Amino acid sequence: MLGVWLFNFVGLKPTLISIAGVSVLFILATHFQVFITEASDSIHKAVYPVLAAVLLFSAQFNRSRISLLCGIWLIFVFNERHDAYWKAWVDTHQPWLIITLSLIFVVCALIKDRALLSFHLITRIAYLVLCGALSWYWLLHNDSLLLLLPDDLISEPIKALIPTLLPLLLCNVILLLLSVRSTDLTKSILLISSLLWSATAFELHEFAFDSIILVLAVLYLLVVCIESYFLAYRDELTNLPTRRALHQLALSLGRRYTIAMIDIDHFKKFNDTYGHDIGDQVLKLVASKLAKIKGGGRVFRYGGEEFTVIFARKGIEHAQEYLEVLREEVANYDMVIRDTSRSGKQARKSARSQSMKTVHVTVSIGVAEKSTKYRFEQVLKHADLALYRAKKRGRNNVCQ
Ligand code: GH3
Ligand code: MG
Ligand code: MG
Repeated sequence: MLGVWLFNFVGLKPTLISIAGVSVLFILATHFQVFITEASDSIHKAVYPVLAAVLLFSAQFNRSRISLLCGIWLIFVFNERHDAYWKAWVDTHQPWLIITLSLIFVVCALIKDRALLSFHLITRIAYLVLCGALSWYWLLHNDSLLLLLPDDLISEPIKALIPTLLPLLLCNVILLLLSVRSTDLTKSILLISSLLWSATAFELHEFAFDSIILVLAVLYLLVVCIESYFLAYRDELTNLPTRRALHQLALSLGRRYTIAMIDIDHFKKFNDTYGHDIGDQVLKLVASKLAKIKGGGRVFRYGGEEFTVIFARKGIEHAQEYLEVLREEVANYDMVIRDTSRSGKQARKSARSQSMKTVHVTVSIGVAEKSTKYRFEQVLKHADLALYRAKKRGRNNVCQ
C-alpha cells in the first residue's frame, strides 16, 4: 500500500506537459523579443481586461482558486504600474510578500474550489492571513537556522538570499509533488504560477512582465475550459467518457460501425454482499480494464454498471474477436480491493479493520453492426437486445 501511495504519479503527464508548454512559450518569447517589444503597447493595455475577464469567467464556473489568482495578479500589476500610496510599504516588505504569495499558491493547491460568495470565504481569508503570519514569523526567526550553516561552504551573498530562497524552493517542491500526484489541472497551473512568481521575484527573466501575466491568464482560461469539458463529458467515478460523449460521437460516425453493450453480471448481488463502496472500487477496476480494449474500440460508461464500446469503421466479426478477449480478461481479473466498507451484509459482520481482498466479476456483452436501414439509436437497441440474449444464455458470454 505504501508503495502505491509513494509512487502515485497520475498527474505526471499534465505536469510535464504544462511545464514543457510554458518553457517553449518562454523560449519563443525570448527569441522573438523584437515582436513582443513592438506589440508591447497592446500587451500592456490587454493585461487588465484579460485578467478581469478570466476572473469573472472562472467565478462564473465556481473556480474560486483561479479567480483568487487573477485577483492577486491584478493587485500586483496595479502596484507595479501606479504609485499607490502603499508602494513604499510594499518596497520595504518585499521578502515578506514574496514568501506569503508562494505560501498562498501552496494553500490553493491543498484546498477545494468553493463558491466565491459563501461562508467559505471567511476560512479562505483566514488561510491568507495565516500565510502572511507564517511568512512574517519565518523572516523574524530564521537567524538561528542561518547560524547553523557553515561559513566556509556558503558565501555571504548566497547566505543573504537564503531567507527568501529557501521557503520559495520548499513551496515549489511541495507544489511539484502535489501536481504530479493528482490529475487536477489547477495544481499544475498553481505550480507554473509559483515558478513564474519565483522567477519574477528574483528577476530571472529579462522580457516584459506583462507578457508573462498574459500567458498565465490564457493558461488559467484554458484550465477552466478543459476542466469544464471534462466535467460534462467524463464520468467522475470511472474516468471514462459519458453517455453524452457517446451521443456526441454518434453524430460523426460513418456508414460502418459496430456497437457493443457490456453489463456486469449480478452486480446488485455483488453490492449486497460487499457493500456499495467496494462495488464502486470494482466498477473503477472493470472500467480501467475495458478502457484497454484493442482493435480500435472506444469505451463509454453508459450508466450504472453498463458500458458501451464503439468500433468505428469496423464490422461485427472484427469487434467480436476483441470483445471475446476482453470478456475473458475481465473474468480472469483478480481485483484486489480495500475492504473498508461497513455496509453490506458480509461487511457488517466483519471487523472495522482495513484488509485486502481479491474479488472477481464477469460481464455479458451484446453486439450489433450498423446496417443501412438503421439509425444509431436502433443499432444501440439491437446491441441491447443481444445483451439480453447473452444474459439469458447464462451470462459471461458475447452474443450477436
Ligand atoms: P444482471 O446480471 O442481470 O445484469 O444483474 P444485475 O444485478 O447486475 O442487474 P441490475 O440491473 O438488476 O442491477 C444493477 C446494479 O448495479 C444495481 C446497482 O446496485 C448497481 N450499480 C449501478 N450503478 C452503480 C454504481 O455507480 N456503483 C455501485 N456500487 N453500484 C452500482
Ligand atoms: Mg444493468
Ligand atoms: Mg448487471
